[in-house]
Amino acid sequence: MLSRAALSRFRKNLLGWFAESQRDLPWRRTRDPYRIWLSEIMLQQTRVAAAIPYYQRFLERFPSVEALARAPQEEVLRLWSGLGYYSRARNLQKAAQEIVAKHNGAFPSEPAEALALPGIGAYTAAAILSIAYQKKHAVLDGNVARVLARLNAVRGDLRANGTWKDLQTSADRLLDGKSPGDWNQAMMELGATLCTPRSPRCLLCPVGEFCDARKQGLADVIPVKRVKRSTVEIMLAALVLVDARGKTLLLAPPKTSRKSAAPDDVHSLVSRMWHFPTVAVQQGQADAELRKFMEESLFRGRRLRAELFPLKKVRHAVTYRSITIFPFRVEVENLPRLSSAKAFPLADLSTLAISNLTRKVARSALALK
Ligand code: SF4
Repeated sequence: MLSRAALSRFRKNLLGWFAESQRDLPWRRTRDPYRIWLSEIMLQQTRVAAAIPYYQRFLERFPSVEALARAPQEEVLRLWSGLGYYSRARNLQKAAQEIVAKHNGAFPSEPAEALALPGIGAYTAAAILSIAYQKKHAVLDGNVARVLARLNAVRGDLRANGTWKDLQTSADRLLDGKSPGDWNQAMMELGATLCTPRSPRCLLCPVGEFCDARKQGLADVIPVKRVKRSTVEIMLAALVLVDARGKTLLLAPPKTSRKSAAPDDVHSLVSRMWHFPTVAVQQGQADAELRKFMEESLFRGRRLRAELFPLKKVRHAVTYRSITIFPFRVEVENLPRLSSAKAFPLADLSTLAISNLTRKVARSALALK
């Protein structure tokens, strides 16, 4: 534990460094809780550089909580399309609707009310409340945990039993109550730019003199690597039906989500968005299984003579799942008429909310021409 004088120096050094060295990011030019909230949600699972253009486009279309709350979900997903982890966008809109209905359109400043909103966990609530409202809540995410673990030379799995709790206590003790928003951002910035997972740049670190891992030569080995869940290989076949006008058939997003879906559940793999007819297949069976699915489910038992042209296979990864998709293009005179499907121009699916997996299949189908 740091003495009072050391703690004061630690805070001064870190805040001074942050004031001089912070990156100029769009969400740092505002105190608007809606904009800060949006940035925090987008930055979960997404790199800063990738999030910026999405953030800007999203705010152009939905400049306020009210605008987001009343938009069609399809449009919200379309603007999120390509960022992945679409439950973030769905929860964001649900939370916006709750904020309009229960909080007069203002993001709540009380932790219990913030935490009751869909998609808001302890980290996100602390980040928004401290940055937008200067509330004294210390953030703890993977980046900040790594910094704290190194400062205190914490060994072992940081997410294990009491360790995470101890790290939160350590974050709470360090928090500068006079400027909690800047403080939290400074801790995150240190983790993102200097105290990085690999090769931390200790020589440039503003708080290096307080760091036990550095003193003990352990900065490179703390925190210990977590054992990753082993990869599950999944094989899918996707059907790109194309009619004479260049239109293709996409199936509608399912109305409900299955909470405990199997790893090869197609609906969760296409992020519950518009998608090509797709089935899970066995090695070497892709065309036969897809033809069966096509005839039975899409053409109501009608035998088709149309040929299945194999397209360039597509690779995609979703968390622990490594997916290989075998797309097939099938030329038909008319697309089947189904209540759960719609025809769209294959060459322009950009106006639709589709997942990256669907986008890759479309690219593969267009590359054939
Ligand atoms: Fe991280 Fe190195 Fe700074 Fe310690 S001295 S906090 S390991 S960058």
